[in-house]
Amino acid sequence: MMKAAVWHGPRDIRVEDVASPQLLADTDAILNVSTAAICGTDLHAYHGEVPGFEPGIVMGHEFMGTVAQVGSKVATLAVGDRVVASDITACGTCWYCRQGQHWNCPRRSLFGYGPAFGESLGGGQAEQVRIPFADTVLIRVPSALPDERVLFLGDILTTGYLCALNGGVKPGDVVAVVGCGPVGIFAQMAARVQGAARVYGIDRIPERLAMAERFGSVAINFEQQDPKAVIAAGTDQRGADVALEAVGGKAPLDTAVGVVRPHGTVSIVGVHLEDNYPLNALDGFVRELTIRFGVGDPMRLAAQILPLIAHDVLHPEQIITHRISLGDVPEGYRLFNERQAFKVVVKF
Ligand SMILES: [Zn+2]
Ligand SMILES: [Zn+2]
Repeated sequence: MMKAAVWHGPRDIRVEDVASPQLLADTDAILNVSTAAICGTDLHAYHGEVPGFEPGIVMGHEFMGTVAQVGSKVATLAVGDRVVASDITACGTCWYCRQGQHWNCPRRSLFGYGPAFGESLGGGQAEQVRIPFADTVLIRVPSALPDERVLFLGDILTTGYLCALNGGVKPGDVVAVVGCGPVGIFAQMAARVQGAARVYGIDRIPERLAMAERFGSVAINFEQQDPKAVIAAGTDQRGADVALEAVGGKAPLDTAVGVVRPHGTVSIVGVHLEDNYPLNALDGFVRELTIRFGVGDPMRLAAQILPLIAHDVLHPEQIITHRISLGDVPEGYRLFNERQAFKVVVKF
């Protein structure tokens, strides 16, 4: 048996004993978790909004640890290796995987999320996790880097980084980031790493705007100021060269499209569930906009991001506000859901 944070219903997470995971395929590994986190995506499950979610699902898709067991066909990992798990899984051998497009792998799934995006897998807010396709899904990390510096490679850091990468941020650009949650803050950090001269962070929650300012962004509270007017005033009325959307939903996407200049790029990593987004195609045509969607892919991007952490260019651990033990995970969800915690990590 092991201890795990288990979903029982909306806003009902309990830490309890469940069966320890076993190797089910010869490409599996078992991971002993050392650090995990609660992600904004987990809140959709917390609220009971995820299709197919059932009582008994072990939560969590941001986690890392050491390899405890490997199947007979695991080639690149050994017991004791220290690794970050990619939040999404993929087979590593199909056409999409060979292009580095793991999200489109037909065998892709998301840890701790039920059957919504593939096979239902136990999550990482647990003492142990079964990892399918371990050679592909687990990312080895240097022993010199502490858990908190590399943990977010498995999801939110990679997602924020991809957002800036897909935006094609160039040195000297003015970049507007819609959303100052963890992914939005990482998108702002990544835009600066890619050379942005000025970064605007747009949100309405004062603590989030303060976080954006702490990392050098110009904060815009959209309940008090019109982001389009502020950014126009700062760019000779042109608008931002690149807009990064890190929230999801219609209003944030409207904001991103609204603040970008003609011939600019809107890069989207927010989770979009609306099935009929009324993009003003005439406006997009007249302004020659580029609009790009992306899903973070740790398996593809970790090799680019790890050196930035190792060389102190990126300090992702600076967003952590709460460190808790597994037993306090239900309280961690409550604080995170009520926006009293910016980022919660779980130490095992
Ligand atoms: Zn996540
Ligand atoms: Zn594949």
